[in-house]
Amino acid sequence: MKNNPTKGTLEVICGSMFSGKSEELIRRVKRASIAQQSTRTFKHHFDNRSSNDQVNSHDGSSIEAIAVDNAESMMKYINNSVEVVGIDEIQFFPKDIIPAVWDLVQSGKRVIAVGLDLDFRGLPFGIMPTLLALADHVTKLKAVCVKCTKDAHFSQRLVNGKPAKASDPVIVIGAQECYEARCRDCFSIDHGPIFTINK
Ligand code: ZN
Repeated sequence: MKNNPTKGTLEVICGSMFSGKSEELIRRVKRASIAQQSTRTFKHHFDNRSSNDQVNSHDGSSIEAIAVDNAESMMKYINNSVEVVGIDEIQFFPKDIIPAVWDLVQSGKRVIAVGLDLDFRGLPFGIMPTLLALADHVTKLKAVCVKCTKDAHFSQRLVNGKPAKASDPVIVIGAQECYEARCRDCFSIDHGPIFTINK
């Protein structure tokens, strides 16, 4: 048995909006820093919740982060001395983030990736199923359903106060939209013809 492992690990933290994913990333990265490990945290620049140089959680905690567009940009900031790599909102990254994460793990780094596992339609979000399958450790966090207070793992999209349709564009111009955490019973989506075709 090898006592000095040369390969790293992949931890994936997933869940709905408001489930505390960024908070958990911040906790793990801060803990690694206390253990005197060299850390680097990244976020996609689409995430406009905070300034460009931080990951912020809804509970007010934060850590330094570098905003990047893709894997190539991210890798420029990671040298041999980095031991722990945190990536927030990884579901926004293009597919080339998967081989990049894989290479980091193979080269001995601990990667902590955070993302929404389901989109607003309640369907698997882009690269997330692949990442979850490759992970050594998976943490699925739950929020509290705003309707009934049960555990929630869906992100309910509301456009002008009403549940969005699956066919709605990602951005509805001129509409007021927001998201709520909801349980399976309270989550509501009109899938329309997208799903009836396959039934
Ligand atoms: Zn509910």
